[in-house]
Amino acid sequence: MTSSDLRFPQSAILELTYRCNHRCRFCSCPWEAPSCSYEKGTELTLEEWCRAIDRLQTLGVKTLTISGGEALLNDSLLDILKYIRSKGCFNTDVPIVLISNGLLISEAFLEAFKRYNVHLSMSLPGVDTFEWHTGVDNASGVLHWFEEAKRLGVPTTVNVTVTKHNYHELYRTLAEGLLAGADTVLLNRFLPGGRGLANIDELTLDTDQLRGMLDTAEEVLELAGRRGAVGTEFPRCIIEKPEKYKRLRVASVCAAAKEFFVIDPSGRVRTCNHSPRVVGHILRTPVISDIDYWNIFAQRRYIPVSCVSCHDVNYCDCGCREAAAIVHGNVCAKDVCFDNNE
Ligand code: SF4
Ligand code: SF4
Ligand code: SF4
Repeated sequence: MTSSDLRFPQSAILELTYRCNHRCRFCSCPWEAPSCSYEKGTELTLEEWCRAIDRLQTLGVKTLTISGGEALLNDSLLDILKYIRSKGCFNTDVPIVLISNGLLISEAFLEAFKRYNVHLSMSLPGVDTFEWHTGVDNASGVLHWFEEAKRLGVPTTVNVTVTKHNYHELYRTLAEGLLAGADTVLLNRFLPGGRGLANIDELTLDTDQLRGMLDTAEEVLELAGRRGAVGTEFPRCIIEKPEKYKRLRVASVCAAAKEFFVIDPSGRVRTCNHSPRVVGHILRTPVISDIDYWNIFAQRRYIPVSCVSCHDVNYCDCGCREAAAIVHGNVCAKDVCFDNNE
């Protein structure tokens, strides 16, 4: 297969900057890894982002997510949103999801988000433990901006990375986010990667806690009458009675290079935001230079040997393939949740 035969996913994540005003212990940005081998490039200018967006259009991308680092630290953010909305291919009925830690949100930003049909996903990794996780004391600030977003009609998600350290307050964290006005919930179990590699022991949930996380979220969502999703895929065999989750969507198939791909702040392409592996550049031809690695994800060539004969293998990729590759150096290793539980 050549690069011209590649079919690109219809969604892309634009990481607008390497910079961040939080220092989250769980941060999976590959450039934050200890003894980092992921070199930060020169961040794209506004003009280059516009060319990148044009290129995504020609590749058939229909929906965009904006992240970072902290996306609000890119001074061109609103111009980039305006440019995206000026392109007919990105349907104005479909929100642009913008992931933020909330520290720089203002009423002016919320009004612009309303104008450009942005869905704001704000991180709330605990209430009492927010500062411990992020290095910044701003849980009340995030909750305030959920209230203001609700008032101004900007749809929101409360986005929680669940760790061993905030597990005990997950019910309260989700409840406070929803009571403040968040429309939906996104849960991410902590996965090793980026700065989180230095904190694996203090952050990693055991399998009982992973199941407890799902049960707690389902309970809160049921009470609140809302819906939510888990963003970091689960091995199906650790979920007891998947049918009991009516309000929480728990995925088990890796979406990298199939449903989405990522453009880093300097234009480099990766299969997933969790991945430290560069496979191309959005402003070069061909876009994908490492086709072999891309196809490992695009064609699901990463199933662990122990899963090959499982009757669920068509619906389950054994958790996070990139986290397995980061920790075990092998994309076909079992999910990291099995590391200390067998
Ligand atoms: S997880 Fe997000 S908010 Fe936290 S340090 Fe990383 S990029 Fe910043
Ligand atoms: S494919 Fe593997 S991880 Fe998934 S349910 Fe089967 S044995 Fe478990
Ligand atoms: S590599 Fe796949 S399973 Fe892991 S976080 Fe990315 S999309 Fe999810």
